[in-house]
Amino acid sequence: MSDWKKEADYISGMIDRHHEWFDNSIPMIASENVISPLAREMLVTDFHDRYAEGEPGERYYHGNIYVDKVELKIMELARKLFKCEYADPRPISGTVANIGILKALTKPGDVITTPALSDGAHISTAKFGAVGIRGLTNQNYPFDVENMNLDIDATKKMLLEVRPKLALFGRSVFLVPAPLEELRPTLEEIGCPVWYDGAHVLGLIAAGRFQDPLREGAHMITGSTHKTLPGPQHGILLANPRDEKMLRRLKSGIFPGVTSNHHLHAMAALGITLAEHLEFGEDYADQIIRNAKALGQAMYELGFKVFCPHLGFTESHTLAIDVAEHGGGEMISQLMEDANMIANKNLLPWDTKPKSPSGIRLGTQELTRIGMKESHMTEVAEFIKRIAMDKEDPAKVKEDVCEFRKDFKFVQYCFNTDIPAYKRHRIV
Ligand SMILES: *Cc1c(COP(=O)(O)O)cnc(C)c1O
Repeated sequence: MSDWKKEADYISGMIDRHHEWFDNSIPMIASENVISPLAREMLVTDFHDRYAEGEPGERYYHGNIYVDKVELKIMELARKLFKCEYADPRPISGTVANIGILKALTKPGDVITTPALSDGAHISTAKFGAVGIRGLTNQNYPFDVENMNLDIDATKKMLLEVRPKLALFGRSVFLVPAPLEELRPTLEEIGCPVWYDGAHVLGLIAAGRFQDPLREGAHMITGSTHKTLPGPQHGILLANPRDEKMLRRLKSGIFPGVTSNHHLHAMAALGITLAEHLEFGEDYADQIIRNAKALGQAMYELGFKVFCPHLGFTESHTLAIDVAEHGGGEMISQLMEDANMIANKNLLPWDTKPKSPSGIRLGTQELTRIGMKESHMTEVAEFIKRIAMDKEDPAKVKEDVCEFRKDFKFVQYCFNTDIPAYKRHRIV
């Protein structure tokens, strides 16, 4: 065997190990999910090998007869699922969709308003992310830590003072809906476009849960398609544009603004996910939220400082937990990984050091996807307690985690529920 083939085998071998690990783990990263078998199959099709710049019917390349049909169908499914006038499945990630919006609707030097990073905003909407690339200044909304949401009265006042060119809502630690309806009169008075970054909660919104931004005053939603919407790593833009001019700008913001090849294989997989979500999305979203509340309750009863007990801990898939007294977010998430529980450390609103956050963030969307219900959340909470509070040897907890995962090997809420979740396509 050649040396280079050995290197290739090394890489595919590591991926086999990764699959085996995740097949025996409790995955709780709030921004991840596992794709359905049929959608996964799209990722290894010839769509992966092609280009289709432009819009269906008006391409710069030939060879797109079937790509066009697929793209038009996906736009139709997305419009139906999100009840919007325009759906663009070309952004190759949530961040790319966000940069497209900034390109479409702002000019360098403009001031926009966004949630603060420490209050759960995403880096793509921070000064040292895409907002900075576009040469914008952002002002952060005042925050109400008790309710983990914007401080509505103070935000109204701030919006009237700043009069932003664009107002962004939506976060990565997103426990409760953004107060769009409450802020709507103020935003209408200012007259700026209202943009909702729904990356985390897109699957909940599609199912009619959490909130309905396009009916609450937002003109557009961007999002990742792989968080609570359990699809491929990709992005999407959904809009009810104010007028033709806004629509034209949004389209050109995405292409040629921020895409060339729009990853046709991932787009096709997204189409399958949208169809599956139209069929199974409501049941899936309901169970995600029930599981998140159940996990919050179980951890709270074990003595963890779970955010927002007075609100039932969360209205989404996400929980925020202050673990400072147990060693901090870095230490706890590392110990959890040692026991096959995958989570991330997270900044809490009062944290000042980005590298040593006091919190962890947990999501229930992937556990729900592999079939877990409320009663299993109690068991998950107990595993976390053994690690974080009892300081049990992670190797011992890991054995029990592996045993627990034996009942959850298949993806649910999709068309084929008899194919293992972590299946690889093999060249035989
Ligand atoms: C995850 C996320 C994004 C973008 O994520 P991608 O990895 O680029 O798809 C954007 N905004 C928010 C709020 C997010 O949580």
